[in-house]
Amino acid sequence: MQVRIANIRKEFDSFAALHDVSLSIRPGELIALLGPSGSGKTTLLRLIAGLEQPTSGRVFFGEEDASAKSVRERNVGFVFQHYALFRHMTVADNIGFGLKVRPAQTRPSAAQIQQRASQLLDLVQLSGLEKRYPAQLSGGQRQRVALARALAIEPKVLLLDEPFGALDAQVRRDLRRWLREIHEATGHTTVFVTHDQEEALELADRVVVMSQGRIEQVGGADEVYDNPNSPFVYSFIGDSSALPVRIEAGQLRLGERKIGLSAPDLPSGPGTLFFRPHDIELVDDDNHDSLVGSVVASRRVAGTKRVELEIDGQRERVEIDLLADHAATQQSRVAFRPRKWKVFPEN
Ligand code: ADP
Ligand code: MG
Repeated sequence: MQVRIANIRKEFDSFAALHDVSLSIRPGELIALLGPSGSGKTTLLRLIAGLEQPTSGRVFFGEEDASAKSVRERNVGFVFQHYALFRHMTVADNIGFGLKVRPAQTRPSAAQIQQRASQLLDLVQLSGLEKRYPAQLSGGQRQRVALARALAIEPKVLLLDEPFGALDAQVRRDLRRWLREIHEATGHTTVFVTHDQEEALELADRVVVMSQGRIEQVGGADEVYDNPNSPFVYSFIGDSSALPVRIEAGQLRLGERKIGLSAPDLPSGPGTLFFRPHDIELVDDDNHDSLVGSVVASRRVAGTKRVELEIDGQRERVEIDLLADHAATQQSRVAFRPRKWKVFPEN
């Protein structure tokens, strides 16, 4: 099922939680809504589900305008961060719940519901736990049951709001891979909300980066990481440093100094230079156009040394990665140039 969000605006009283958001989710796609807390991810998910109504704009399921449809008519599966399992029901009854409450004409028989619950437990790798109660499961197991329950109704769209947010790091990583496998097996159109970039980049076909009620960028993991299209995305995804520069006749300057980077297509004026710690090339001497900094701190990051530099003549600090055996001592000077970088003009 394709889901299309067209020019949605959502206000709570006079506060706009979403400004003119448009997004087209392909059938069978797993898409992640990624952004800091308060960026509007949950609101967007609830609008897709029909749990909220937009102030303006529309949601389409395929060709159909879903705006007038109730939550139930939209037939979406929902999993939240906090386990919403019924505590007094067994695992099997939890999974079958959505089928059991259907109107008589479309309700499967008790035996069919039981069979379906068992199949779904196999799918989520919890076979044999039909008779347990939620209190007898680990947090990760409960979220798997919650997913099985969401899948039981054969939803048109699966909506997951930080489903692993309350779990330990290791369990989260395992469930992430597991969810990807389930997705490949079932092929549901899925919207996954997270504020964890690692989770989004690893799991999703495409990542929707959100900030302050707006979509900043939509793209595959490589695209949003390698080619961020705004200062927000550059600093939100992955590690990066930012320096205030001036663009003058297509050359970048830091203070008075040329730094050996050109941006011939950009207008003169102030801008911000972004680069990543591992995209640095060291240059031999600091007489030429280059960036020069003094080491103020360094720490080991896996195979490299993450070095914090104070850029000469500026208050600015940047981080770069050097090989772990590089003889950078406190106060040594390092001349470098970013190999990959991007400058965003101020206006
Ligand atoms: P996220 O899920 O990205 O953390 P939300 O969608 O929950 O963000 O919230 C986006 C913004 O809308 C926040 O500033 C939040 O306080 C506000 N908001 C969300 N729901 C309501 C509500 N029911 N009433 C008033 N403000 C709300
Ligand atoms: Mg949220």
